[in-house]
Amino acid sequence: MIKDVIIVGGGPGGLMAANQLEGKKDYLLLEKNEKVGKKLLLTGGKRCNITNTLSIEAFIESLHVKHKRFLYKALQTFKNEDILQFFKQRGLNLISENDFKYFPETGKSRDVLNALLRDIKPNNILYNQSLKRISQEGSLFKLETKTDTFYTRNVILAVGSNAYPSTGSSGDIQDFAHMLGVNTIPFTPAEASLYIKDLDLIKDLPGLSMTTTLKINKDKKTHHGDILITHVGLSGPLILHISELVYHKLQVEPVFLSFPIIEGSFDDALEKGKKQKYNLSQLLDSIMTKRLSKHILSLSNLENKSCHDLNKQEIQTLKNLTESFTLEVLKVEDKEKAFVNAGGIDIKEMDPNTMQVKKVPGLYVIGESLDLQGPIGGFNITIAMSTGFLAAKHIKESEENK
Ligand SMILES: Cc1cc2nc3c(=O)[nH]c(=O)nc-3n(C[C@H](O)[C@H](O)[C@H](O)COP(=O)(O)OP(=O)(O)OC[C@H]3O[C@@H](n4cnc5c(N)ncnc54)[C@H](O)[C@@H]3O)c2cc1C
Repeated sequence: MIKDVIIVGGGPGGLMAANQLEGKKDYLLLEKNEKVGKKLLLTGGKRCNITNTLSIEAFIESLHVKHKRFLYKALQTFKNEDILQFFKQRGLNLISENDFKYFPETGKSRDVLNALLRDIKPNNILYNQSLKRISQEGSLFKLETKTDTFYTRNVILAVGSNAYPSTGSSGDIQDFAHMLGVNTIPFTPAEASLYIKDLDLIKDLPGLSMTTTLKINKDKKTHHGDILITHVGLSGPLILHISELVYHKLQVEPVFLSFPIIEGSFDDALEKGKKQKYNLSQLLDSIMTKRLSKHILSLSNLENKSCHDLNKQEIQTLKNLTESFTLEVLKVEDKEKAFVNAGGIDIKEMDPNTMQVKKVPGLYVIGESLDLQGPIGGFNITIAMSTGFLAAKHIKESEENK
C-alpha cells in the first residue's frame, strides 16, 4: 500500500507533524522505540520547557547559528502563541516562569506528551520500527525497517540528532542523508558541560553554584548567568548556553573562562578589611562563603597574614583570584552526553518555506535533524514543533493542489 506521508521519528517534531496530518492524509509514523517521546519526557527536568515568551525576531536573534533566519517562515507559521493555543485546545495550559520559559501548568512533561498523542489514531503509529534504509523508486520513497517495507509519496524525517542516543536519537539522519545524496554537517555538542584542565583549581568546590558574569578569552562580549562547579569542570545554565561557542573556539585556540567570584572590587574589600584589622582569612570570609574562602587562600599560597602586611604583588594575586578567577577548558562534553547537538542536514539543502529538501521533492526534514539548534529556554522544542507544523502544512497544501 502506498501512503501519502510517512513520518519517521516520534519526538515533538514528528508528533506535531502527525497532529496536522491526522484525518487529512493517509499517513504513518514509524518509531524505533517501543514508545514515542522518550527524550521529550526528560526535558526541562521532566517538566518540559516547551517554548518561551520571545517575539519571532528576538527568538531568532538568540540563536548562535549563522543561518538562523532560515527559521523565520516556520516560526511565522507556527509561533509560541500557536503552541500555547495547541496545548490549550487539548486541555493543557502553559504558564510562563520568570516571564520567559513556558512549562505545562501541571509541571509534568508526561502531560505534554499525552496532549500531543490525544488526537493521533493509535493505528497511525508503528512502534519498534527503526528505519534502516531509504531510497527513491520513481516518484515514491521506499522505506525499509528490519521487518517491513513501506512506500510513500512524502517522507518527513524527524529522527533528531545524536544527543542522548539512549532515547532513540542516535544520529541516523547522517546515514539517511548519505543514502539520498543530501549534504550534512557532522554532529557536535551544544548545550553541554565543560571539562577544565587544572582540576586543582576547583578540587574543593564541586557542587558550588554562583551567579556571575563570564568572559571567554579576551572577547569583549560577556555572558551573565548561573554556573555550577562539578568534579571535572563547569556546568549550569550559563555554561550550557556558551558551550557551543566554546566548542568552536577550542578548534582554533586554547579557551580560558574568567569570572569574578566576589561582588564589587577586591581593593574596596581590602580597605574595609584593613579598617577592621582583619587577617587575610577573615577578609576572604567577609566577601565569600567559608568554603570558597578556604580554597582561595590555599590557591594564593599566601600566609594568613594581616591585611596591612600584604604587598603589591600579593594584592595582585588576590585580585586576580577573586575578580577574574580563570580556568582553562580541556574539552566540551561529548555530543552524546550534550543536551542538544549542532549539525545535521545542511541548511543550504533546505527550502525554508516548506522544510523540503530542494533537490528531493517530497523529502522533508524537521527538528534537531536539521543543522539548527538553540540555547536552553524552550528554543529546541519550539524549533521541532514549528518545522514539523510547516512541513505537514506544505504537504497538505501541495497534495490538495494536485
Ligand atoms: C535531558 C534533556 C533535556 C532537554 N530539555 C529541553 C527543554 O526543556 N526545552 C527544549 O526546548 N529542549 C530541551 N531539550 C532538547 C529537545 O529535547 C530536543 O531538541 C527535541 O526533543 C528535538 O525534537 P525532535 O522531534 O527533532 O527529535 P527527538 O526528540 O530527538 O525525537 C526523535 C525520535 O526519532 C526516533 N528515531 C530516531 N532514529 C529513528 C529511526 N531510524 N527510525 C525510527 N525512529 C527513529 C527516536 O527514537 C525519537 O523518538 C532537552 C534535551 C535533553 C537531552
